[in-house]
Amino acid sequence: MPTHRTGFVFDEHFLSHDTGVQTTVTTRTGSFEVAPEPHPSSLYIIQRIKQFLDGSGLTAQMLPIPARVASEDEIAVYHTREYIAGIRAHAAGGPVRGTWGGVDDETVLSPGSFEAALYAAGGAMNAVDAVMQGHVRNDYALLRPPGHHATRNQAMGFCIFNNTVIAAHHARNTYGLERIMIVDWDVHHGNGTQDAFYQDPGILFVSLHQHDWYPRLSGELEQVGSGAGAGYTVNIPLPAGTGDRGFRAAFEQLVIPIGLQFRPQLIIITAGQDASWLDPLAQMMMTMAGFRQISELMVDLAEEICDGRLVMLQAGGYSVAYVPYCTVAVVEPLLGGDRGIENLYATSAELQRCKTIFTQETQRALAAARKWHKNWWKI
Ligand SMILES: [Zn+2]
Repeated sequence: MPTHRTGFVFDEHFLSHDTGVQTTVTTRTGSFEVAPEPHPSSLYIIQRIKQFLDGSGLTAQMLPIPARVASEDEIAVYHTREYIAGIRAHAAGGPVRGTWGGVDDETVLSPGSFEAALYAAGGAMNAVDAVMQGHVRNDYALLRPPGHHATRNQAMGFCIFNNTVIAAHHARNTYGLERIMIVDWDVHHGNGTQDAFYQDPGILFVSLHQHDWYPRLSGELEQVGSGAGAGYTVNIPLPAGTGDRGFRAAFEQLVIPIGLQFRPQLIIITAGQDASWLDPLAQMMMTMAGFRQISELMVDLAEEICDGRLVMLQAGGYSVAYVPYCTVAVVEPLLGGDRGIENLYATSAELQRCKTIFTQETQRALAAARKWHKNWWKI
């Protein structure tokens, strides 16, 4: 038996990806300058999560797993050599936007971003190694920058290298796994991850995300994979205002039964805590309690079908205030127990509403997803 049930990947190099501040307000006719606020994908969020994990005593109960620099060959399992070279050159030029087609307008690179992205990808692979080699039963990798929007040749949505895709390839190539399940609960659609495995029946990609959101037209029900991969991409688009109960129902009605049928040998979670009620970049109304529930369900699934082998990789989450609360809530079920951190705004009526809301629109979306995915799965 491993001495620690749960491992934890973190590296100070992640923080050298500095997205800076925003100071410009755009108007119809021009712009004006104001006092700075952090870029939405601020390093403060990762710092605060780390401090929450430290302060709650969780870090001390987890096995520290170092990150490492991913080699170019390891990155090139998905990304093109031209793209990798472009990111290196572009990052060296400092924080600039929109001057190279390989990076979209909102993804900021700083001089430390290339190295940070290599460490994040290496950290994801080390997280896989620790679980596959039995050093821990499961682990959480607090990565930065995130990865799930990055395609083979495009940085977008704050993502540079696709940590999830690189980790899944690493698991397959190093340990000969035949079936890996990726669950992406980040509120935005994991388009880069979907692209990577669209024709691949060995990687089941399940994504829950806000419908009609980001990227545009990505993550529709009808996108199910192609060729031998048909049916192995499972999109579950949900309406704004889904809340804790809707997410729980999506897991109970779709994610868990599909996982039980697929019987993966490893589960990788793209864990973006941006479906929360305080997130500025989505409107899904999840609370700490909701995140705890979906994490518990995935831990239980992993225990039932793959000896607990579960790797969680940090993705998005943009409420500087609330993401750390939700991240503690997804990490705690990995170890077991509850350190008793009080919900932010615990007495808010709105918070209570997020725990109980279950609209007809959400129920219709779940029914539509069940009906559609019945074409490939017994659900
Ligand atoms: Zn996101």
